[in-house]
Amino acid sequence: MSVLTDLIYGGSNAVAGLTEGAVNDAIAKYGPDQKVAFPDTAYFFPTIYAATGVKVQKLGDLPACVGVLKSLITNKEDLGDALNAGLATAVGAEILEGLKYVNGAEPYASDSGIGFVPDPVIRSLGVPLVTGDIPGVAVVLGKAENAADVAKVVKDYQSKGILTFLVGDCIEQALGEGVKMGLEMRVVPLGHDVTSVIHVVTVAIRAALIFGNVQPGDLAGLLKYTKERVPAFVNTFGAIDNVVVSAGAGAIALGFPVIVDIDLGENQVPGALESVVDHDQTVKHSLELRNIKIKVKELPIPVAFAAAFEGEIIRKADMRVEFFSGRNTTCELVSMRGLDEIEDHRITIDGPDIDNGETDFALATYVEVAGSKMQKDFESVIERKFHTWFNYMEGVMHTGQRNQFRIRVSREAFDKGLRLKDFAEVLYVMIMDEFDAVVDKCQITLVTDKARAKKILDEEAMPAYAARDDRLASMTDESVDRFYTCILCQSFAPAHCCVVTPERLGLCGAVSWLDAKATNELNPQGPCQPIMKEGCIDEKTGRYETVNKMVGEATHGAVENVTLYSILEDPMTSCGCFECICGIEPSSNGFIVVNREYKGMTPAGMTFGELASMTGGGVQTPGFMGHGRHFISSKKFASAEGGIERIVWMPKELKDDVAARLNKTAKELYGVDNFSDMVADETICDEAEGLMAFLTEKNHPVLALDPLM
Ligand code: SF4
Ligand code: ZN
Repeated sequence: MSVLTDLIYGGSNAVAGLTEGAVNDAIAKYGPDQKVAFPDTAYFFPTIYAATGVKVQKLGDLPACVGVLKSLITNKEDLGDALNAGLATAVGAEILEGLKYVNGAEPYASDSGIGFVPDPVIRSLGVPLVTGDIPGVAVVLGKAENAADVAKVVKDYQSKGILTFLVGDCIEQALGEGVKMGLEMRVVPLGHDVTSVIHVVTVAIRAALIFGNVQPGDLAGLLKYTKERVPAFVNTFGAIDNVVVSAGAGAIALGFPVIVDIDLGENQVPGALESVVDHDQTVKHSLELRNIKIKVKELPIPVAFAAAFEGEIIRKADMRVEFFSGRNTTCELVSMRGLDEIEDHRITIDGPDIDNGETDFALATYVEVAGSKMQKDFESVIERKFHTWFNYMEGVMHTGQRNQFRIRVSREAFDKGLRLKDFAEVLYVMIMDEFDAVVDKCQITLVTDKARAKKILDEEAMPAYAARDDRLASMTDESVDRFYTCILCQSFAPAHCCVVTPERLGLCGAVSWLDAKATNELNPQGPCQPIMKEGCIDEKTGRYETVNKMVGEATHGAVENVTLYSILEDPMTSCGCFECICGIEPSSNGFIVVNREYKGMTPAGMTFGELASMTGGGVQTPGFMGHGRHFISSKKFASAEGGIERIVWMPKELKDDVAARLNKTAKELYGVDNFSDMVADETICDEAEGLMAFLTEKNHPVLALDPLM
């Protein structure tokens, strides 16, 4: 037997033995009926569920899984067989990790790793993965001889936006070298046992179930999906034992190449298992193996600039200066000008720069753009990106928009020399990079002088915001001549297509009709294509010949009939990355709407994760609808079935967030005052009986409506 297959089988057999023993011990201790589950998932033990269709729910379900696991280990001298044994190791690792959660335990509460990754987190990764903000997924495992080496690799991935999961002592090594961690920093410590690597494996596996519509039990479909659509790879540091090798074989079976930092000599498998002993080459070679292309933005500023810093939080204690609307005049404005009115790349700082000794500043960020294809409608699309781009700067935090924002600059970034001209440079480079199809000239003025900032706010910004709001309010599905498709999510959900209209934004919440229009203008062959609003078949449900035709083409025939306004008849499909899900609550004949962040129970008897698992992967599921937060106050919200009047329950945070807009729409549509007060939330009830009592007490309008079905 070759050294490699020998090692794999050695590891798989060892894990099989451990797993069997652990399962028997747990059953002896807790009994076969003891429930067992990972937290916040609708996919049971995801590897076992996806590969075999078996729903592990109690300890007594596990011995059969151990049997399947053992059957995967043939001990035959064949690389394909050995890779299957690697899958057995994955199953074993999943069971061993799952057992840690038995009896409500929180095994990772006192670990620096996070353990199991909940479903909603995976859904939230959908958009950054499809837009390329997260170009790939790295798994870094083991303990490096030199802590600095592993930290350098991780920081390099971070600067490239790669989502990196850490397993083993490399966590402390990277922390010790100052790597900033957390999901928002794109570096996620999983755990110290090698079995915790399963928590990133199940992310890939659940992506196949959530976005890819891979059916549980379809192992071949699962392996095809992870290989083709999940751009992941593994780097190991330090010595590797047979368990690591067999886990690596499992990764290879899923299509993820493994790069080790020891010399494997002739045991290497080109493209799948390779040695890179020079750590300076690890990142480059790993990305090449997975064909991951990084869009490098070379910016002449003294701090790093990467999507990985978007979620960085700067606390007051670490802050050097602040621009905050609570204390000073602030505004951001993009304004369209004639081509001969502005000078390209002219940057003006009007007022003191941030190194004058003060800590608080006013700031008017005033950007003028011109271009033969520029449209007034694109001003707000460009302006909204300021938030993202400023956050990409390491040591800068931006929240809010328009005239209500807060920007913090960290002491560290300030000491590195970050100044206002760098902010201007970031805006210039990024606008010319992302909007080059419509912007030919761009001139930037940053005003910190208090009086002049106020003048821009009063005379330019406020009137512009008001005009835009009027335009948005007047923009209805009736007032435009076209809708747009969006198929960005097809890289994960190949059968999904969003139809974006002025009154129904994309279900991710990130693509409004104006965004789609701009995307089409910037990239005419790109993901957003116009649907001319013609051939109306049914106005009430929003059924159009052209919509059906375009969706049919965009989904390669997977979806042929779709309505814009109905949740029951041919509803729009979901990819899986929706911000909210709407479902029917049968006893009230109403709708509940649940946001991704809500972890508790709902009156429909399902959590967000369970509701969400009912739809996705481009499948139409009558009675369920994934959608963006903003859609909740739309006059078109499931209007075929009565619209927002049927909303009976929402988590409190979501309800408070949308209340003002929701109430306005309810007043306009039905003449109801303070509608949101009639909508229950988890502080009132989380089951059907309490819900009915509340609705009756409030005389909720749903009680007077016809049954839904
Ligand atoms: Fe994905 Fe739809 Fe959002 Fe486009 S609009 S990014 S397809 S969820
Ligand atoms: Zn999506």
